[in-house]
Amino acid sequence: SRTLAEADPDIFGGIQGELARQKEQIELIASENIVSKAVLEAQGSVLTNKYAEGYPGRRYYGGCEYVDVTENLARERAKELFGCAFANVQPHSGAQANQAVFMSLLQPGDTFLGMDLAAGGHLTHGSPANQSGKWFRPVTYTVRQDDHLIDYDNVAEMAEREKPKLIIAGASAYSRHIDFARFREIADSVGAYLMVDMAHYAGLIAGGVYPDPLPHAHVVTTTTHKTLRGPRGGMVLSNDIDLGKKINSAVFPGLQGGPLEHVIAAKAVAFGEALKPEFKTYAQQVVDNARALAAVLVERGAAIVSGGTDSHLMLVDLRPKGVTGKATEAALEHALMTCNKNGVPFDTAPFTVTSGVRLGTPAGTTRGFGVGEFQQVGHWIADVIDSMKGGDEADPEVSRRVAGEVRELTRRFPIYG
Ligand code: PLP
Repeated sequence: SRTLAEADPDIFGGIQGELARQKEQIELIASENIVSKAVLEAQGSVLTNKYAEGYPGRRYYGGCEYVDVTENLARERAKELFGCAFANVQPHSGAQANQAVFMSLLQPGDTFLGMDLAAGGHLTHGSPANQSGKWFRPVTYTVRQDDHLIDYDNVAEMAEREKPKLIIAGASAYSRHIDFARFREIADSVGAYLMVDMAHYAGLIAGGVYPDPLPHAHVVTTTTHKTLRGPRGGMVLSNDIDLGKKINSAVFPGLQGGPLEHVIAAKAVAFGEALKPEFKTYAQQVVDNARALAAVLVERGAAIVSGGTDSHLMLVDLRPKGVTGKATEAALEHALMTCNKNGVPFDTAPFTVTSGVRLGTPAGTTRGFGVGEFQQVGHWIADVIDSMKGGDEADPEVSRRVAGEVRELTRRFPIYG
């Protein structure tokens, strides 16, 4: 019955430190968000005590009457939110949701086609360091050199040449709309399955401001913690009930044991929030804010990959400024703005250095920032970068001034009371 502060001051201290950081800094990491207190409460609940292997109504443990209710609500809300016939809400993460699809549709050694990591794809879409690249045979498509848009002719060509069993659309660092209908056409032309990994765009899709993959994909995977603003976790969706049965078997017992019922309850809470009309306003604001931030950065002389954004994120190409992604990430953090270094398409800098940073608006928009605030953020970022004068360090005076102004702004837009 002791509080965390009494029982374990070290861990309590770590959590308090992180809370203070989140309150004070501007979170620009495109894959992060700020969940509601209701989501936190569900995730921090007694459901963490419960074993519930299996699925609602078909469990391998007794005492599942309440987690059956919460997991069913999560499934029903997910299906309503994305207008689909099947949902598995048990994957512990986005990576495991993707693994479940691989396990359902591929045999070891099978060929699949995914977006090149260097062009904006995700590790789990065939990187040699990931299981997807070690146990299967990935082939990749890329973006065009001139406009950095997905090269659909290259996708079609690769599909025709390599005859993949599965094609993956979806990315971690691609700011533009993806033509899911075109992907399906290409998949059909070679008899491949189409999987869309909508992890980054899920909240925008739920909010109706990004193209919907569900009418086109055989199967859709996602994380629940990015633009969708739920707890960390994964999910698999489909309109094909038979495929859904295979996915269920792949998640459990194929890959996982007991589901995280506390996280699943928190997913249900987040889906409930996303079903409300306010979430549509949020999703539109996320995109408006990203466009405003990108416009200021271009005005201040940075380049944006593909020239802009139609989503929550952008890749800033820092080469016109003569600074690296690594140095910029560190300089912005000193000024209390958190982001991640990221390679730009056809980057020649090493992976650990890069020529770009990835910026996103989901977290800032959640705390109430509008276009005006994000324009201000754009100017602060440019002030810090310009003060680096092509080197690795920002001018300490500029850094201090911007940090002070960031603190003032985040105080005006408080989180968690
Ligand atoms: N898929 C995409 C497109 C992602 O961007 C990510 C996370 O960055 C994942 C999958 C993996 O999600 P997780 O980190 O929950 O395993």
